[in-house]
Amino acid sequence: MPQYTPPLRDLQFVMHELLGAVDQLNALPRHADVDADTLNSVLEEAGKFCAEVLTPLNAVGDQQGCTLDRSNHTVRTPDGFKDAYARFVEGGWPSLACDPAHGGQGLPVLLGQCVNEMLNSANQAWAMYPGLSHAAYAALSAHGSDEQKALYLPKLVKGEWTGTMCLTEPQCGTDLGLLRSKAEPQADGSYKISGQKIFISAGENDFADNIVHLVLARLPDATAGSKGITLFIVPKFLPKAGGGLGERNAIFCGALEHKMGIHGNATCQMNLDGATGWMVGQPNKGLAAMFVMMNAARLGVGNQSLGLTEVAYQNAVAYAKDRLQMRALSGPKNPDKPADPIIVHPDVRRMLLTARAYAEGGRALAMYCALLLDKERGCDDEDERQDAADQVALLTPIVKAFLTDNGWIATSNCLQVFGGHGYIREWGMEQFVRDARINLIYEGTNTIQALDFLGRKVLADNGAKMRKFGQLISDFVEEEGVDEAMQEFVNPLADLGEKVTKLTMELGMKAMGNADEVGAAATDYLRVCGHLVFAYFWARMAKIALAKQGSGDPFYVAKLHTARFYFAKLLPETAGLMRSARSGMAPLMAMDEALF
Ligand SMILES: Cc1cc2nc3c(=O)[nH]c(=O)nc-3n(C[C@H](O)[C@H](O)[C@H](O)COP(=O)(O)OP(=O)(O)OC[C@H]3O[C@@H](n4cnc5c(N)ncnc54)[C@H](O)[C@@H]3O)c2cc1C
Repeated sequence: MPQYTPPLRDLQFVMHELLGAVDQLNALPRHADVDADTLNSVLEEAGKFCAEVLTPLNAVGDQQGCTLDRSNHTVRTPDGFKDAYARFVEGGWPSLACDPAHGGQGLPVLLGQCVNEMLNSANQAWAMYPGLSHAAYAALSAHGSDEQKALYLPKLVKGEWTGTMCLTEPQCGTDLGLLRSKAEPQADGSYKISGQKIFISAGENDFADNIVHLVLARLPDATAGSKGITLFIVPKFLPKAGGGLGERNAIFCGALEHKMGIHGNATCQMNLDGATGWMVGQPNKGLAAMFVMMNAARLGVGNQSLGLTEVAYQNAVAYAKDRLQMRALSGPKNPDKPADPIIVHPDVRRMLLTARAYAEGGRALAMYCALLLDKERGCDDEDERQDAADQVALLTPIVKAFLTDNGWIATSNCLQVFGGHGYIREWGMEQFVRDARINLIYEGTNTIQALDFLGRKVLADNGAKMRKFGQLISDFVEEEGVDEAMQEFVNPLADLGEKVTKLTMELGMKAMGNADEVGAAATDYLRVCGHLVFAYFWARMAKIALAKQGSGDPFYVAKLHTARFYFAKLLPETAGLMRSARSGMAPLMAMDEALF
């Protein structure tokens, strides 16, 4: 059975030493009083909950899955899930980073990010229930009317009600313009909504009294395509004015999907048969309103793979130190035993260090983004707010796609460390791999993230957001370039930065000739930029580790080794990716469809 130790030391390293988060947070009026002790003690408590309550339920959830009682359309979650949720609510965890105006604790998004990473390491399937509620909270906070906020937000914040996002239909996944669900206006200002939604995570559950479904549908006069979509709240039970529960609404779970991973999360087919709903935001602006939720969820999905990368790494290391097979090529390291532990073998170390470098690099990036969100929300200065928002927009597809691709690579490598035992259920490694796979698909497939990144975030503004981030890298290179000890990190970072600038211009030119050039290069390009961002954070972490490696704390020695591994063994992947990105659309598009 896999074990999980919350990575408190590394979370605190990123928070305090890399980001200097307390000073940055204290500069924001809403977090002027936040201090390191509070942040650290919340991390510790959350870590305990994750390790002691959620981790033991991860395999249970995988083996039992959810069950649907068709007679009353209720879903039973795996043993222990409901109780764990009750304890989560009792501990006040859902309200951690929510607005005090709606009953939240008002703590930084950064802290919420760290807690989420640990929840996902412990039990991704379980963590999706509160994760989706939080995304619904974010969308309603941004676009709900005052009345809607008053009615729904306090319940979501407390965790008394859960939330979902209902976009996908059988004929429309990526292309929401094909959506068919209909909303008929009623005399009392409500709507009757009909249609079928599929693949709805947490669509039905036994955690909470009520479920707040955020549903995309079309008004009768809506134009075709994505400009004719409106967002509605469709609660499972219609709430009374005081917050009590009224009549059961006509939105029911018709079936549960049987799927590759995240078995503990109910993936529901939801049937709406004239269900009562209320419009959120403006008519035909539903996609824009839903984007608040989708962006929160995209960062959340990156976090899911970050959590899995960390827990898979921890278990693979423990196994590699324990499992005796063969002798080291350079001679026995463990002569008293019949063989050496497999951690002596270079390729086992490659797999372990890959996972470690992706976990620690991903953590630095995800926490940096969370701090940007704190600034975007809480900064007094309009320019600084905009700057933070631009960086979040640029980095969101990287967090979603790069971290989930890395999570897939890392969990697979960690399974490989176990050899055949990794493939056997009892060790838990194959669950991590299966759970990690969905993260590349939902919330916009990684292909769609790549198109969004290159097409919208980079080329559409002529590289303005990229240049802003590039400036951070240039400033760092200029400052650290004079330090001899930093050359091994600064030189490849500067080199890659220059190459990305050139590649971006080339792709921009090609895209003007044929838009398919964007589609042909996007996935390679996003991965190159993911590495550029990681190289920046790894160089910054290496700088701290270099300064403190003599302190006697092995943490910094390990950090420096991992940084060196990242630059030597993972970053060089960018050379091949850039070559592939440059090869253009011909190798992909020249072959006639009939020849496939
Ligand atoms: C377990 C699970 C949970 C989910 N949870 C939710 C949820 O809570 N709420 C919800 O609304 N949905 C949910 N989804 C749906 C999920 O978001 C979609 O499956 C996803 O967006 C992809 O849509 P699709 O499956 O229809 O694939 P399609 O859109 O049919 O795509 C098929 C393939 O074509 C590619 N493709 C499509 N268009 C393009 C393009 N323009 N350029 C290049 N490639 C393209 C895609 O990348 C993909 O590889 C969930 C799905 C699963 C499996």
